[in-house]
Amino acid sequence: MHKPTIGLEIHAELATNSKMFCSCKNAPGEKIPNINVCPICLGHPGTLPVINKTAIRKAVKTGLALNCAIEKNSYFERKNYFYPDLPKGYQISQYKTPLCRNGYLEIPLTNSFFKKIRIERVHMEEDTGRLIHPEGADYSLIDFNRAGIPLMEIVTEPDIESGQEAREFTRHLQLILKYLNVSSANMEKGEMRCEVNISLSNSEKLGTKVEIKNLNSLKVVGKAIEYEIKRQTDLLEKGEKIIQETRGWHDKKEITISQREKEGAHDYRYFPEPDLPPLELSREFLEDIKKEIVELPLEKMERFKKQYCLIEKEADIYIWQKDLGDYFEKVALRLKQWIKEKKGIGKAEQNEPQKIYKLASNYISTDLQGLLQGKFVNDKNFLITPEKFAEFVIMIYASEISSKIAKVLLKEMYDTGGAPAQIIDEKGLIQISSAEELKEIVKQVIDKNFKPAQDYKNGKETALQFLIGQAMAQTKGKANPETVSKLFKELL
Ligand SMILES: [Zn+2]
Repeated sequence: MHKPTIGLEIHAELATNSKMFCSCKNAPGEKIPNINVCPICLGHPGTLPVINKTAIRKAVKTGLALNCAIEKNSYFERKNYFYPDLPKGYQISQYKTPLCRNGYLEIPLTNSFFKKIRIERVHMEEDTGRLIHPEGADYSLIDFNRAGIPLMEIVTEPDIESGQEAREFTRHLQLILKYLNVSSANMEKGEMRCEVNISLSNSEKLGTKVEIKNLNSLKVVGKAIEYEIKRQTDLLEKGEKIIQETRGWHDKKEITISQREKEGAHDYRYFPEPDLPPLELSREFLEDIKKEIVELPLEKMERFKKQYCLIEKEADIYIWQKDLGDYFEKVALRLKQWIKEKKGIGKAEQNEPQKIYKLASNYISTDLQGLLQGKFVNDKNFLITPEKFAEFVIMIYASEISSKIAKVLLKEMYDTGGAPAQIIDEKGLIQISSAEELKEIVKQVIDKNFKPAQDYKNGKETALQFLIGQAMAQTKGKANPETVSKLFKELL
């Protein structure tokens, strides 16, 4: 049996206004090539870099969220290598003194089982330019807009054992970076990039390490690892050797392909960057950053489950769709106020606000999501304010409207942004609760449905549901189902 040992190196571009060592704009989406450049990020002789404080702040914030120890005294180093996208001939990075180290991230796997993935280090460096190879051309183009964008590298210990675990880790890390507002972390746009180190070992010896690069989506991270485990297992079973090398992912063929034999750290001739002072972080600076750390996704999930009595599946929707979770909380707050003001409800509800929260969550996570179709509730075109949504939920809770009318009403609110009470007035959606009025309809339904009426009399409970359905249809959903049910029982 061969056991996979997997470590990840994840690069994330930090969302700052300017680049890491110069004042050029940090605009990863810029379409016009080579406009966000200056002598510093182009590596002209005689220029001097200056450290971007915001970038350091964001990297430290990430380290703290990942339970790392923060290095108060670190320094930058030069990583020397030549490549056309690297104008200076070296990259300013951190090697011996990463900003953060010895952290961990716990990720949920199946059945509420958490796995701790240790973080070896988080360090700061700068991004390279971008090479463009036009199809069929015998030349390449280069865009230096990206050169010098602050890049944070997060390296895990080899604690991961499958493609699925790697995918979950990357997915959760991505979400944390977004919650912390340190990176947009979009993998498809290259704002977050994942490299995998993988080896297979048996009980006797450790395996040779292979690196896989160019993994540009969560799906590909999982697939590339599964492919590589199979490829290496097959080789080992045939008695062949694994070569230490860097492989790339081929998107169309869905395989990994050998790119080059791997360099060791000594090949880069790291040495302290002479143009930058050592980095000293004061205690105040660190304390200040600690205060900025918001509630993280998994903490939020636990709180949602407890505070609002939501099931895991619903809480999960709200952590991954943060805008929807924020919206739900705003609605819940209004509902809480309403309960407090005791608007026509008894003590039972005051003691059990969870019932009404669950009702709200139900309508947000199903009906509202259905209307949104992937759009966001923080979009300016979304017109239902949390106040209006809470009012809507209260109407359902107080049985002022049936679930059928609720659907019609919500659609109307979504389209027009109108207040629920007003829409009900205008559209004549008021529920008929008067027994007098409904009695006539119930009588008609009994006359028209002789057989089901007999069935119910003979003890068939399902027949009653059918009859109620008929009465609801006749009133276009406006009848109060409870009153209707009562009337049938009285009259039959
Ligand atoms: Zn610049």
